[in-house]
Amino acid sequence: MRRVDARSIRHGHRHVFNRRRVMDVFDLRARLVADYKSYTRSFIKIRDDRINNFVDEALTTGAFWPEPLLQLNPTFLPGGTIDDLVTSKVLHSECAKIFRIEKSDSDLGGKQLLLHEHQREAILKAKEGKSYVLTSGTGSGKSLAYIVPIVDHVLRKGSGRGIQAIVVYPMNALANSQDEELAKFLKEGYPEGQPPVRFARYTGQEKGDVREALRRDPPDILLTNYMMLELLLTRSEDRELVRAAKGLPYLVFDELHTYRGRQGADVALLIRRCRQAFNSPDSICVGTSATMASGGTSEDQRREVARVAESLFGVTFTADQVIGESLERATPQISTIDKASIETISATIATDQSPPTDYEAFRNHPLASWIESTFGVREEPQTGRLIRQAPRRLQGDPIENQKSAAAELAELAGAAAENCATVLRRFLLQGATLRRSASSRFPIFAFRLHQFLTRGDTVWATIEPEADRHLDLAKKAAKPGEPEKRLFPMVFCRHCGTPYYRVAVTQTDQGTTLLPREDRREAGDDNGEDAYLFVSETAPWPRGDTSTLLARLPDFLKETTAQGVERVRADARGDVPIAVFADATGRIVSEGQGGMPAALIRKNFLFCLEPSCGVAYARSQKSERNKLSTLGVDSRSTATTILAVRALLELQQDRDLKPEARKLLSFTDNRQDASLQAGHFNDFVQVALLRSA
Ligand SMILES: [Zn+2]
Ligand SMILES: [Zn+2]
Repeated sequence: MRRVDARSIRHGHRHVFNRRRVMDVFDLRARLVADYKSYTRSFIKIRDDRINNFVDEALTTGAFWPEPLLQLNPTFLPGGTIDDLVTSKVLHSECAKIFRIEKSDSDLGGKQLLLHEHQREAILKAKEGKSYVLTSGTGSGKSLAYIVPIVDHVLRKGSGRGIQAIVVYPMNALANSQDEELAKFLKEGYPEGQPPVRFARYTGQEKGDVREALRRDPPDILLTNYMMLELLLTRSEDRELVRAAKGLPYLVFDELHTYRGRQGADVALLIRRCRQAFNSPDSICVGTSATMASGGTSEDQRREVARVAESLFGVTFTADQVIGESLERATPQISTIDKASIETISATIATDQSPPTDYEAFRNHPLASWIESTFGVREEPQTGRLIRQAPRRLQGDPIENQKSAAAELAELAGAAAENCATVLRRFLLQGATLRRSASSRFPIFAFRLHQFLTRGDTVWATIEPEADRHLDLAKKAAKPGEPEKRLFPMVFCRHCGTPYYRVAVTQTDQGTTLLPREDRREAGDDNGEDAYLFVSETAPWPRGDTSTLLARLPDFLKETTAQGVERVRADARGDVPIAVFADATGRIVSEGQGGMPAALIRKNFLFCLEPSCGVAYARSQKSERNKLSTLGVDSRSTATTILAVRALLELQQDRDLKPEARKLLSFTDNRQDASLQAGHFNDFVQVALLRSA
């Protein structure tokens, strides 16, 4: 969540308003997780003290929601202003009027646009007539790195002389937001219908007359997607657009990293056909890309990006045509061997001091510097460049052999890790309220938490006596260190909580063997191998003795003969659980061969074998879900809904947040999941409305 600062420097309030309250994201995280935990717990009843305690312990220690990772948004190295580039004649003078921020009808002038160093480098690269790729993180202003040079080019050449740039987006949403962005620069401050540079979208969403107008009078800049570009090259009605793009100076692919595999090959061929159709062998090819998390130094990464760009664009790319982000520190760098600094840090923790409330004092505090080095940026040893730190745990257990920040600070300052965590949280929250000036877009510490939550699976156990079977929350083949002892998923009677092993029965050379079975039995399933195994020392399943067995069976499996003798109904024999001996490998063995007495329920779960329970189901009720529970939240949609609703409730109550900031963005990796989730949200709201009615 980013809050745009509406106050202007020109009103002279810079020292008054550079503090603001922020929500305590650590508290929010704690409440979200607590909610999720109670939801997870509310669905499961376990009639086995050992398993019950094991689950409680696991939920308390956060097995399903490990400590979050924390990361600071880096500060980009400033690259001067548009005005500077106009003064040095790099850019056309009109650029100084176009590229201003926060232009509005009441304030046509807006404010000076401050460039990042990587944007400036890109503008200069374009000026040399070279192709380039910009790789940097989100919020780094990648699109200006090609929009500025393109607009400058059109201003010099003259508007209305054919299409000067085609910009291709992987998603229409991105083309739409670029369209809005361009409107702010090119329409505000200019007479209606007379922008200095003309641009238009061609994404397939446009109405017929808009498309016609576009063909009659092509814009200077065309925003499109690769499917439409493909059509444009082939459709006869688009001939005029192809003609207008003759000698195309700029071909831009935004989010280059999204074109992989087969799609990457398609796009590579499309680019080659474009160059042919537009007769533009010398187009400047521009790509933007997310930073790559792959290994190696920033130099290795540049070479890799150049290689990818070369195969996509089909022109030579050298490493110097790959522009990376340039970062700077927000705080001065301190050395961890500097005695005075360490003493200050130690004293801050020992005396539980509050962080400085003044921007400069805060910035110069050695702990602020340590925090930035830990969560923000680090120097790359081979190149001396500042690069982003990987997200890191603030507290808790080490992850991938890396200590938490609190544990590392504890060692440095000779303090308890717990106290260090408290002080770190306080400094981070304070840093999130302090800005260099009222016009600064971001506070000194703009940080985010990455919280992983699994919807949980179930408890896994070995087939061993209840008092000492091995329990696990993660799916593993066998008990650690004893590979012959297989782990099986457990399900629990929804009515009484009695545990059952979920198994599949197979026939092997060694006879009948049980295998762990992960999939639930769904309505309509008719897999004869599906089974459940029941183990109980207090109420073992009867073997041999008919009257005890009959006493344990529900009525619908029994009948009484004309002679008044109770017996199992002929058609129900397959439904009666069989008393067996099962060993820890899952084999069904004979008595005395090291197996545990158990009962095997074949196919459907028809009734609970625990005598005090008595729950029974009709044969037609085949779905396991309503009869037996597992540990996890039912589905990913449910998990997302719970988290989203809780987060929204929290945001709605936060009076410090502007109303328009009380929002939640939810992403998913594919369209099907997005619509499924949307349906789930809708159902949830409907149910909530019904219940409250
Ligand atoms: Zn994230
Ligand atoms: Zn039961």
